[in-house]
Amino acid sequence: MTNTTTTEQLLQSFTPALAWFKGKAQRNASGALERLTVAAERGYWLPEDKSRSIRAALNKCSVAHKFARAHEGEFDAPYPRTDSLSKLWYAGHYMMFGQFEAIQTLDFPTLQLEVQVHRLHAITTARAFAKDFSAVAATLKRLDDTRPQPVFTYLGASPTVSRTLESLGLHVKPEARICPLKIEQVEKLENGKKIWIQVVTLLWPEGTVHGASRYHAEDSQCEACGHGIKVVDNWVPLILNNDKGTPYALWTGRDCCRTIFGIKIVGELNITGRPQSNGS
Ligand SMILES: [Zn+2]
Repeated sequence: MTNTTTTEQLLQSFTPALAWFKGKAQRNASGALERLTVAAERGYWLPEDKSRSIRAALNKCSVAHKFARAHEGEFDAPYPRTDSLSKLWYAGHYMMFGQFEAIQTLDFPTLQLEVQVHRLHAITTARAFAKDFSAVAATLKRLDDTRPQPVFTYLGASPTVSRTLESLGLHVKPEARICPLKIEQVEKLENGKKIWIQVVTLLWPEGTVHGASRYHAEDSQCEACGHGIKVVDNWVPLILNNDKGTPYALWTGRDCCRTIFGIKIVGELNITGRPQSNGS
């Protein structure tokens, strides 16, 4: 995807979005779309792409905001709202806050059939807004989907000891494993602005025993060695089974994870702090 035709095609597919901006916001959006094009051609985000700032520039579509404001009455509806009226309200809300990605989820053909005539101008414009941003939204999503996930390498309990034992013909299986994770990019509204955050959900096996370590009482201590952990994103959620196969949760720092349990982590884990109980 490096030939110029593709570059032009990409930029062309993004261009309709610029109609929803004016002045300085439009220049910023234009710059953001150029940066998005470069990332899309590469096929993945680099940290210096600052995907958040690309999104921030594109969320400031003042023309959409103004339209939603001016047609608030058409987007709004008294309670109880029917399903289609709720969606219509969302369409206005998404335009108001420049949420061009969220608005892609609305089923406009159905909405247009269901809403009353006096609302058609609002819904038709919201549909055009969604369409003009569809290529941009799809490209952002595709790039987000390729965001690298952390990689765990199981070296075996204490790499040095394992090597010694292996040279004796003894094979020690890794006893600890990282708690299975579900990693998602989710959008969040903060002070009226949409931001993207990575949410990590820990999928503890059923029956996992939490807080059994003697170091559990202090929530800043590594549960393996008791050393304080000051860097909030340094935590690793480990699972160890006892003789009966019952899983135990053990929150350690990255150091212990590597030196005691032989698990190397490359990349961000983004788990801030360890929970006091229940792993939630
Ligand atoms: Zn430790």
